[in-house]
Amino acid sequence: MRNQAQLITYVDRLAGDFAGVRDLLQGPLHGVFGGIHALPFFDPIDGSDAGFDPIDHREVDPRLGSWQDVDELGSSLPIMADLIVNHVSAKSPQFQDFLARGHDSPHARMFLTLDRVFPEGATEQDLLTIYRPRPGLPLTPVQAADRSKHIVWTTFTPAQIDIDVHAPESRAYLEAILDRFATHGIEMVRLDAVGYAVKTAGTSSFMTPETFAFIDELTALCHARGIEVLVEVHSYWRKQVEIAEKVDLVYDFALPPLVLHALYTGRTTRLRRWARLRPHNAVTVLDTHDGIGVIDVGPDASNVENLGLLSAEEVDELVEGIHEHSHGSSRLATGAAASNVDLYQVNCTFFDALGADDRAYLIARMLQVWLPGVPQIYYVGLFAGHNDVELLHATGVGRDINRHHYTPAEIEQAMTRPVVQQQLALLRLRNTHAAFDGDWTLHDGGDHELAMTWTNGDEVAHLAVDLAARTFELTVTVDGQQRSITEVTELTGLGAAPRRA
Ligand code: BGC
Repeated sequence: MRNQAQLITYVDRLAGDFAGVRDLLQGPLHGVFGGIHALPFFDPIDGSDAGFDPIDHREVDPRLGSWQDVDELGSSLPIMADLIVNHVSAKSPQFQDFLARGHDSPHARMFLTLDRVFPEGATEQDLLTIYRPRPGLPLTPVQAADRSKHIVWTTFTPAQIDIDVHAPESRAYLEAILDRFATHGIEMVRLDAVGYAVKTAGTSSFMTPETFAFIDELTALCHARGIEVLVEVHSYWRKQVEIAEKVDLVYDFALPPLVLHALYTGRTTRLRRWARLRPHNAVTVLDTHDGIGVIDVGPDASNVENLGLLSAEEVDELVEGIHEHSHGSSRLATGAAASNVDLYQVNCTFFDALGADDRAYLIARMLQVWLPGVPQIYYVGLFAGHNDVELLHATGVGRDINRHHYTPAEIEQAMTRPVVQQQLALLRLRNTHAAFDGDWTLHDGGDHELAMTWTNGDEVAHLAVDLAARTFELTVTVDGQQRSITEVTELTGLGAAPRRA
């Protein structure tokens, strides 16, 4: 993965289809991104979980284009795609065949029934120990055509049937997807919801040693095809640190809530602590297609003695803070207020979580791009987008509040906003300045301040922020001279030094 800003986007919601995305990236967004995470573009993109429930994971939804379009986009920018390892759509031919033929189906072993995990039967305690991102059991009863009844594992929704990742049929299924990806130049996969993929009797079935072993196996399969791996897990922060030691890349999901906390309170103690502890082989985000995770900063749900990066009270204040800054719109989209697969995420655009304050937003982005890791920018955040309450009302899906469908006219309009242009300038600087390939230092400072410097030979990129005053000083070398700016309006005039000597 290039050490440059990456775009996270739905193909359809940003630009209709792959050709539209290519035109944007080669046109007005030229030079802004060094890679793209194309959210599920498989067939179909509009099931029950916005593409995370593929019927055919190896096919491109024809409404977006074809594999040839993927090839064309990939020839200009590396693409990351999701490998949805935990489940398939209930409408997939494999599951439909299982329903039609029961245990006679050649796909029967691909699906995880309750008795496969608990051959001796499950006790109440066994079931209560299973971890899931919301209350309730991850199990759904189904009836096959021969009237036989089965309880299948459904971690997310009853429309997403979990697969038995250890069954040879499932292994063949996953390898076939990876082969297709490799043929079409996908350079990186995101192991979607992999933390839930392995079920082991008597455990939480979430990020257990068995899950780690499975991630190792998958990683080897990816590496054998020249594909890098990003592991997607929302969890207690220490777990994330542990995962990072074993894999190519993890997300820094603790960052968005900690940046909000710092901007809301004007205090940097929590963020600074994380800046010291956090893994550097991370993809940094402020916003994604999912909500703002609070599990990632709170105390360990399985043992509250394991302290969080924020206390339980601070987490509550943070969630309230998001609702207040968004004038209550995020409240309509979060938790049980709307349909949500993860109750521990707050659904809100990052811009609205900051009360649509341009300056606070740009400071948040500066912190993100200055911290070690590869920064990803979600398409709604790219345009400093607002909560789409209309879409939320139309679909009843909480996360849709942050999944706007842009028209070309809206994009054109968004591109004229100073905050958008200033953010683009910041990303271009991050992509091209040689200092970001050097060494990173976090400076000591007061409780309102945070300062960091990248140094690579003579090239320097320094950021000092006062979170209470919401001021900053950004100093970079340009043509051998140091240039400092303290106003967001100066960002667009900064230009960008040529990368690397
Ligand atoms: C994705 C979600 C999705 C879930 C189930 C996640 O981690 O990011 O959008 O709903 O996996 O596939």
